Amino acid sequence: MTDNLELTETDFAEDRYARLRLIPWWEQERLRNATVMVVGAGAIGNELIKDISLLGVGRVLVVDMDTIENSNLARSVLFRAGDVGRYKAEVAAKRAMEMNPDIKAKALILNAIDDIGLGVFRRVTLVLGGLDNREARLAINQACYKVNKPWIDGAIEALNGFARAFTPPDGACYECTMTETDWKLINKRKSCTMLTQEQMNEGKIPTTPTSSAIIAGVQVQEMLKLLHSDRDLPTLAGKCYVFNGLTHDSYVVEYQRKLDCMSHDTYGSIDEMPWSVHSLTLGELINAVKVDMGTDAVVDFDRDFASVAACSCGERKDLFVPVHKLKAEAIVCPECGATMGFERFHSLDGTEVFLDKTVGEIGVPPLHIISGRAGTASKYYEFSADEPEIFSEFTKEDNING
Ligand SMILES: [Zn+2]
Ligand SMILES: [Zn+2]
Repeated sequence: MTDNLELTETDFAEDRYARLRLIPWWEQERLRNATVMVVGAGAIGNELIKDISLLGVGRVLVVDMDTIENSNLARSVLFRAGDVGRYKAEVAAKRAMEMNPDIKAKALILNAIDDIGLGVFRRVTLVLGGLDNREARLAINQACYKVNKPWIDGAIEALNGFARAFTPPDGACYECTMTETDWKLINKRKSCTMLTQEQMNEGKIPTTPTSSAIIAGVQVQEMLKLLHSDRDLPTLAGKCYVFNGLTHDSYVVEYQRKLDCMSHDTYGSIDEMPWSVHSLTLGELINAVKVDMGTDAVVDFDRDFASVAACSCGERKDLFVPVHKLKAEAIVCPECGATMGFERFHSLDGTEVFLDKTVGEIGVPPLHIISGRAGTASKYYEFSADEPEIFSEFTKEDNING
């Protein structure tokens, strides 16, 4: 028998959270077992990732498709001058694991609006938003309601900001909070889907590392309470915390759930299929759904795709891209230079001429969920074979600390 006074690595690992555990309702296990997706790795996203990493959230998914610019350095605790030009998500995920080796962080270089499959949302505990535009918020909100995942939004402008939580299937959702002005701004953006970089810059808002720290801090505190939802803690579900940075006044407003809101659609039970968007063709997909639901069944996608562009000069051109991602130059006629019209679809009935394309080739993201419809019956199918592509790095050492 020896008295070993040396602290083992495990002792240190446990000690790390000692002060957090002093909070009466705190259960560190819940954080360690959580998978949190942070969408957006900008000013707010940096603070969110910093906080949840320090707190020991076990798995962190960081979604962002942008690279680091000089102007990010004044507002982003995770980025260094030498990181300029690298992907924000990759750098943020790496720094998160340096700050806390207990956690796993993974970068997804994806567009928040189109590229995150619903099966990704389905597999996370909750979503934190570090977004800077309404369209992305609307997309994240709809995805979260479809698969019943809470999400916590944050927004900042100069010294001000707000934070709010949405907890499907109940309460007000993000769309319920939208005003006519919000819709006008979204539709303006949509009507000129084909934005130039200069136009994108016009939408940029002034932000500071101080307001992002305050708002992200509130968001993460809301996350903590939602992870301990059985402890009867007050939350911001369906409410908005408003922070005025000039006076340092703050208050909470409660949102009303709108009965006619289009975003409350929640999917029923979801069948996990051994399908990958990279290999299953549209023909195989519609056939499988018809075998399951009957010959009159159709496949519904949750977005519009552009199929073929046609010009008045007779020129035709394949597009096969989500309409939202269609670039202005893609519909310039290569023959005469005119702007071409294009055909769109969001369903398949099996009569299409492009059934040899894979589901991924038209722009359906990995691990997505599609619906089959026959009469009034609906079924939901997930491309579950894509799971390793998104979650592989999380699965290996998951149970390493018991
Ligand atoms: Zn709503
Ligand atoms: Zn033409």
